[in-house]
Amino acid sequence: MILRIDRWLTELPPPSDPDPAGAKIVQELMGGKFGEMSTFLNYTFQSFNFRDRQKARPFFDLVSNIAAEEFGHIELVAAAINSMLTDDKSIEDSIDPANSPLLALAGMAMNPHHVVNGGRGALPQDSRGLPWTGDNVVSTGDLLFDLTHNYFLETGARSGKLRVYEAVDHPAARALTGYLLVRGGVHQVAYARAVENLTGTDLTKLFPGPRVPSMSIKESRPYIERGDHRRLYRFSPDDYRELGAVFNGNHPETGEPLEVVDEDPTQRPLPQDLPSQNDVFAPGYSTDEIREIADGLRKKAGLPDEVIGDVAPPPTPLRKGKGRATASMATKAAVKPAAKAEARSRKSSNKAAGEAVAASKRPANKVAKGAATRAEAKPAAVAKSKAKAAPKPSGAKPAAKTKSGARRK
Ligand code: MN
Ligand code: MN
Repeated sequence: MILRIDRWLTELPPPSDPDPAGAKIVQELMGGKFGEMSTFLNYTFQSFNFRDRQKARPFFDLVSNIAAEEFGHIELVAAAINSMLTDDKSIEDSIDPANSPLLALAGMAMNPHHVVNGGRGALPQDSRGLPWTGDNVVSTGDLLFDLTHNYFLETGARSGKLRVYEAVDHPAARALTGYLLVRGGVHQVAYARAVENLTGTDLTKLFPGPRVPSMSIKESRPYIERGDHRRLYRFSPDDYRELGAVFNGNHPETGEPLEVVDEDPTQRPLPQDLPSQNDVFAPGYSTDEIREIADGLRKKAGLPDEVIGDVAPPPTPLRKGKGRATASMATKAAVKPAAKAEARSRKSSNKAAGEAVAASKRPANKVAKGAATRAEAKPAAVAKSKAKAAPKPSGAKPAAKTKSGARRK
């Protein structure tokens, strides 16, 4: 079974300019033949179908464990796509469908399913908008066949990531591909080591590809510098302990020792909470109403006033139209909010906003339960309507009044 933890494997930059055309390309990394749904479900089915596993335990553990990591990759691809589909213009108090707010959709270089079916969300499709299919799964029951296939699957996955990196310059897509290129490299090495430990054949020498200049990709470099290119993380509290019997030796390119790492997954970054998109009624035609119902249910269930469950602290505002932030800028922003954001919170009479900024000064994984959550989890439209209902502080414009302010709520 899968034990789910509400964290992201790595940080992504906060939403900036929307890029629906780029989001369409990034879908290849989700539902393409060599996308994350394929790697996840190839290894998942191979692990389900693994026979006589006690006799082959280290190999079973390797495939099962990498399958679990791939689930987290799907989640990250979805997060990047969602961020790229988030549009400031869609954060409005009320939308009149009769005014055709989506009229421009027909002429846009995007996947209309992202809006019409997905409500500005990721879908299990490739970059052509075709649904992912189970035909992409190779699970033959033959260990050597499957491991060799997995090596080439990771090869195709890395080629795809590099091409998507070249085709899309949105910071969310760049941060995503920079990370996934490094992790795909580890998986490629893992399956090569598995085949070599089984047969003596070194696939990395026979088929040394794809040649990805990882160190020249600035979004990959931080992960390589901290050693992620030679580490396999164990994705289970107690199981898959025999991984290291197969994932061993040295990295074929750098010569550094390969390593299996046990790490507390709750130390990974908190997920971002994206604002409501009211032109597609996400999360609902009346976000206020949903919130009232949820509040009532929470009260009835005896839950505390403060939401249990955390999201990332609000990001440093990205100036619209001033070019795109890089992933490293976003990482810095998550650690150190800009003076601007602090100034805004001082001006704001909104208590929740103040709490959120205070929370953002703490490390992401040490945010006190509640403080950041309450401000963050509040859908933008609700925050806006609250700000309107509250008496205006003289001289200070409520932050939520501006569109970009609402986005950051
Ligand atoms: Mn992956
Ligand atoms: Mn992989």
